[in-house]
Amino acid sequence: MRKLTKQVKISNVVIGGNNPIAIQSMSNIPSDNFDGIVKQAIELENLGCDIFRIAVPNLEAIRVIDLLKKNVKMPIVADIHFDYKIAIEAANAGFDKIRINPGNIGDESRVKAVVDICKSKNIPIRIGVNGGSLEKHILEKYKMPTAKALFSSAKYHIDLLEKFDFNNIVISVKSSSVKTMIESYTMLSNSYDYPLHLGVTEAGTFRTGIIKSAIGIGGLLLSGIGDTIRVSLTDNPTNEILAAKDILKATDNYKSGPNLISCPTCGRTKIDLISISNQVEKRLLAIDKNITVAVMGCVVNGPGEAREADIGIAGGDKEALLFKKGKIIRKINEENIIDELFKEIEKM
Ligand code: SF4
Repeated sequence: MRKLTKQVKISNVVIGGNNPIAIQSMSNIPSDNFDGIVKQAIELENLGCDIFRIAVPNLEAIRVIDLLKKNVKMPIVADIHFDYKIAIEAANAGFDKIRINPGNIGDESRVKAVVDICKSKNIPIRIGVNGGSLEKHILEKYKMPTAKALFSSAKYHIDLLEKFDFNNIVISVKSSSVKTMIESYTMLSNSYDYPLHLGVTEAGTFRTGIIKSAIGIGGLLLSGIGDTIRVSLTDNPTNEILAAKDILKATDNYKSGPNLISCPTCGRTKIDLISISNQVEKRLLAIDKNITVAVMGCVVNGPGEAREADIGIAGGDKEALLFKKGKIIRKINEENIIDELFKEIEKM
């Protein structure tokens, strides 16, 4: 059962409560390349990104918000380190959420100044604790970035915001250790009702990053923890969105769009199933139907093993059988498999 958290509104997206788990990504375009950032935002939004974050390292970088607001509907988050003046300006300029750690911006009058502007604009703050940049006093106490250390850091920042009666908060406690992040998010979830932004930080390249994120984020989601997710990859952010969708689908948290199942192939396979599956997966990106599509290697076991699929193909010798709900519809020549399958999908 999903833990019911407090609902937090980020412009037109609400996270927490029973709201769908929102997918986030972050721009990797240099912060002075406004056209590049906007182009990437449009691409990610079209792919299914719900919340878009950009680094705002200086006041100049804030100006991109006007262009972004003209071109995309999804909320835009300003990622700010240390400088409370940038946070205030970003909130004034129209950013929809601020990611900043209040304990790192100096004395409490600065925290209050950020809280005041966020309150007046109804903008949430995400406290983004990261195992690689814990506060000195936390590291001195715990020696290592353990789960308890991450949790204590989050508590330290939460206390500062709550002191000023601010609770429009989202929290993340990311670690590059999957085990540590699972433990620290679980501790947070047991102690607070604020919505949680899940992620494994410095997760790695395409392959290892997806594996770590799938275990860390997916494992937490299966325990009912998490309200928004970001898969961090040393790769094109488009792959972060696709991986996030797949994690949500695999944990039964994503009900929209097709689900592909395909067999691992074996000695019975006589068609090029790997290439066919990859092509089908790509073409399914353009399909907006809640269907399960199966791509199976043989007619002996394929239709039966893919019984739960709405539609699928099972490979024969230079041909394939097209089936719907386990029932065979017709034979297709090998070269037409993909086109014929998609003709049927279009009709559904
Ligand atoms: Fe092998 Fe057929 Fe099963 Fe695929 S569906 S793994 S080809 S037996």
